[in-house]
Amino acid sequence: TEAYLSAIDGAGALNAFVHKTPEIAMDQARAADARIASGEAPALCGMPLGIKDLFCTRGVASQAASKVLEGFRPEYESTVTRNLWDAGAVMLGKLNMDEFAMGSSNETSTYGNAVNPWKVDDRQLTPGGSSGGSASAVAADLCMAATGTDTGGSIRQPAAFTGIVGIKPTYGRCSRWGIVAFASSLDQAGPMTRTVRDAAIMLGAMSGHDPKDSTSADIPVPDFEAMLTGDIRGKTIGIPKEYRMDGMPAEIEKLWADGSAMLKDAGAEIVEISLPHTKYALPAYYVIAPAEASSNLARYDGVRYGHRAKLGQGDGIVQMYEKTRAEGFGKEVQRRVMIGTYVLSAGFYDAYYNRARRVRALIKRDFDEVFAAGVDAILTPATPSAAFGLGEMADADPVAMYLNDVFTVTVNLAGLPGISVPAGLDQQGLPLGLQLIGQPWGEGDLLNTAHVLE
Ligand code: GLN
Repeated sequence: TEAYLSAIDGAGALNAFVHKTPEIAMDQARAADARIASGEAPALCGMPLGIKDLFCTRGVASQAASKVLEGFRPEYESTVTRNLWDAGAVMLGKLNMDEFAMGSSNETSTYGNAVNPWKVDDRQLTPGGSSGGSASAVAADLCMAATGTDTGGSIRQPAAFTGIVGIKPTYGRCSRWGIVAFASSLDQAGPMTRTVRDAAIMLGAMSGHDPKDSTSADIPVPDFEAMLTGDIRGKTIGIPKEYRMDGMPAEIEKLWADGSAMLKDAGAEIVEISLPHTKYALPAYYVIAPAEASSNLARYDGVRYGHRAKLGQGDGIVQMYEKTRAEGFGKEVQRRVMIGTYVLSAGFYDAYYNRARRVRALIKRDFDEVFAAGVDAILTPATPSAAFGLGEMADADPVAMYLNDVFTVTVNLAGLPGISVPAGLDQQGLPLGLQLIGQPWGEGDLLNTAHVLE
């Protein structure tokens, strides 16, 4: 714990940790020592972790990287972090992210962007987003592992950009209680780690039924680590033809083909599959996610949490709401609230929101059919490119940024587990990831297949 704390102090330039908690860390580390001395050693005993700023941690700043939550110190602990502390883990601090987890580059954060520890010459790169601080910290060895959350790719894309492992579990596997809500029907927490084994151990500790989240599933959590046999003989791996996008860089094509060859060598059968509604996933996501966000973010009113704008003479409650929200939310969050409010408004609800929900059902059906036909897992690239330069996309058309999520959002819309595994380097020497998508509640098999690709 001390070694990690001093590594964090020396790595301020990465802007990964935004609140450090050395006293808590040392107390937890001593408690872990005591547990070990008494012969008790739970799964994560003494393991120093970083926690994404989206998780409420009791008494510790939990800001979702937003100005609107400035000064907010929750009175309660999220279920996922509670589970981690019960398993003996140690909290080093809170990690940078995109504001309210909206973004793919960590550049919408009120703390400023996190930086990718990977570099090409002197070009500074994004660690991806929204769990950019988590990815940067794990890749730079500032913590043993970190929590992330994934609404449309925010664990898997930053994992791919920094050469680490990230798994988004099945919707309902981890409790959402105490995690600042973005799009509640899509949000899931998951581990970001250096190896698949670490991901298996940490996911086991994070998971489990929680009566405080009505969408948390009452399903037993298997011993994921015990399932890492490396034996995938007889498994069927699907390669979805719709993911072969026009203009896909040759190196991503090659990575994908190499990954498929590795799985075949390990005894899996590779089949081409079709997921015909894939092309509608991104537009459906960028209607549903902002719709839910606009509703979830209505609670930031200047009364209940964090920031309240200074009011002028004659300002009433409406001005307080307006000024607080105009000052407290960044540009991307405001854009999402406006899109969400628009697609939910009377007159547009059927044309946008309801249509997007129908598309979502079709996307889910595509996956159901493929799994029913005997496919065990689906292999795709994790991202359309390697990490891009900081500032390169931030001021461009927002849709260019949204295109980063083209391979990942389908998984959230269908509620499936998906994992990104480091799979090689591009021509510039930057990491690239492959994504495996699994059957509902099939994280154990998914981790085992990912283990073969490591
Ligand atoms: N990049 C996506 C978005 O901005 C995904 C975010 C996420 O998964 N939290 O909505």
